[in-house]
Amino acid sequence: MDKFINCNILLLSDTMSFRIILLGPPGSGKGTQAEKLNDDLGLITLSTGDMLREAVRNGTELGKMAKSYMDKGGLVPDDVVIGLVKEKMATLKEGFVLDGFPRTVQQAEALGEFTEIHHVINLDVDDDELVSRLTKRRSCPDCKVVYHLLFKPPMKDGICDKCGAALYQRTDDTEETVRARLKVYRDNTFPLIEYYEKKGILVNIDGRGNINEIYEAIEASL
Ligand code: AMP
Repeated sequence: MDKFINCNILLLSDTMSFRIILLGPPGSGKGTQAEKLNDDLGLITLSTGDMLREAVRNGTELGKMAKSYMDKGGLVPDDVVIGLVKEKMATLKEGFVLDGFPRTVQQAEALGEFTEIHHVINLDVDDDELVSRLTKRRSCPDCKVVYHLLFKPPMKDGICDKCGAALYQRTDDTEETVRARLKVYRDNTFPLIEYYEKKGILVNIDGRGNINEIYEAIEASL
């Protein structure tokens, strides 16, 4: 934590010592906290969900293939997402936050082969709250900022505070798909908690409550 004292803007080279995974179920606040780590420390966010949604919007072959899994709340095949992250990571000179990757032990093992991770933050939130959060979530397609209709509403209805784009509801944020995603999380991603605990780099953080307090807990753990 000494690196933060009196200075929120770190030198690019210093940020390389922050290679962070945000772990946690869908809706646990990974995207929101990644945005704060970006604003505060200049860490680059790599969100596999955002990369895949962009491919879907652009109608690429990858997007068409990924959409069939995403619409059902399932996981896109490991080799596809591993390839995406590896390619993106090769271009980075800054520290980064991984949001939504890895999601399986196979992805975690592949990641360990091409980079070293320093911190894994596991955001803990119960299922009922996750369903409420996700069904009331609205997202910005351009700058990716995430809102909640009750707890973090945009200043102007349906408009992104940061960039002015029209907000949208993700097609996988309906209750049925959210329940499917939570099951997929429990079956495939939950084992990563133990995987990173054994490596001694996992910190559990209570993901309920005030966004800034959660961020302070994350910052204090780095
Ligand atoms: P997210 O925005 O992280 O909630 O991801 C949205 C959807 O994209 C997920 O429900 C999956 O279908 C797909 N996806 C994102 N990241 C991954 C990943 N690491 N592995 C497999 N599928 C993923």
